[in-house]
Order: sequence, then C-alpha cells, then structure tokens
Amino acid sequence: MSRHPLFVLAGPTAVGKGTVAAYVREHFPEVWLSVSATTRAPRPGEIDGVHYHFVSDDEFSQMVEAGELLEYAVVHGRASYGTPRRPVEEALSRGKLPLLEIDLQGARQVREAMPEAHFVFLAPPSWDELVSRLVGRGTETAEERAARLETAKVELAAQAEFDSTITNDEVRRAAEELVSLMKDH
Ligand code: 5GP
Repeated sequence: MSRHPLFVLAGPTAVGKGTVAAYVREHFPEVWLSVSATTRAPRPGEIDGVHYHFVSDDEFSQMVEAGELLEYAVVHGRASYGTPRRPVEEALSRGKLPLLEIDLQGARQVREAMPEAHFVFLAPPSWDELVSRLVGRGTETAEERAARLETAKVELAAQAEFDSTITNDEVRRAAEELVSLMKDH
C-alpha cells in the first residue's frame, strides 16, 4: 500500500487554520484529520471525539506522562492542546491522507519527532489583512493590540521553516490547494 507523508498545517494566530481544517473535514472525507485533546471547554456545537477530545487537566497530564502525545503545547497561555500519537501512526500505516492542524510550537515538535512529515504554512493574503483579523473586534487595549502585532510578526517569520506555503485568500480555494498537495505526495 502506498504511504502518504504526514501533513502538518500551521500558521500565525487568526490566519484561519481552523476554518480551513473544518472545510477539509466537511468536503474531503478521504483526508484523515487528527482529533486533538484539549483542556479547554467545548464551544456550542462542538462534539467530543469529533472536533476535540475534551479532557480535564489531570487527564491531559496523564496523557503527557504516558507518552501518548506526539506533541503538545499551551496555546495563547490559556489551555493545553495535544495530538494523540497512536491514531496518527495507524492512519499512516493504513495509507490514509493524514493531516494535523496545530499551532507553531506543536509543528516544531512534530518536525523533531517526524522530520519526514510535510509542513504547510497557512499565510494571510497580506500583513494588513492579518492585522485587521487580529484587532478586528476593536475590543482590545492599545497594549494588547501591540502585543498581538508583535506575536504576528514573530509567527510570520516562521514561514521560512516550512516546506510549502498556502495563502488563505479564500477558504475553499486554500483547502482545495492543500488537499491536492497532499494527493500529489
Ligand atoms: P481553538 O481553541 O480555537 O480550537 O484552537 C486554538 C489553537 O490551538 C489553534 O491555533 C490550533 O491550531 C491549536 N491547536 C489545536 N489542536 C492542537 C494540537 O493538538 N496541538 C497544538 N500544538 N495546537 C493545537
């Protein structure tokens, strides 16, 4: 059976990774999308085991200690997120098209553990677009805005570490480009 490489989609905060992943989940059943564990609470409409495995802090720590996570990170200083290792290994061995949608810290850990994986950076159409997505709601203080812009600068610079870049100018187009890249490998 042909083996596809593991694909990892990452990118700056607010670039729309989750939206692109949700589009892939809905429209490309041939792609196997990893279900992360998280300590954050479910949002309305999110289903345990489908969108995330919602776990307690203790359960998350146990997964870490047992070595069950391929990578994990605290995202935005708020909650822990991690990729269960076994389902990824099974998807790889069964010749599926496996995809992780994770943050940049997680992507770097996967690169250490699985250098043969393919890393895709989801980029905003422009710096101005990213800025308006980040500060769009206008509810932040000036310091918060400055901190977010600084984060965005650092995160955009990570693009150089990636194998491919896809611009998120339109969710459907970006998702189609991602899936066709996966199928070509
Ligand atoms: P949200 O809470 O909005 O669903 O996701 C917040 C952030 O967590 C997103 O940037 C997403 O990429 C990241 N994330 C989701 N699952 C994982 C994971 O398993 N590992 C890591 N490192 N980040 C994740």
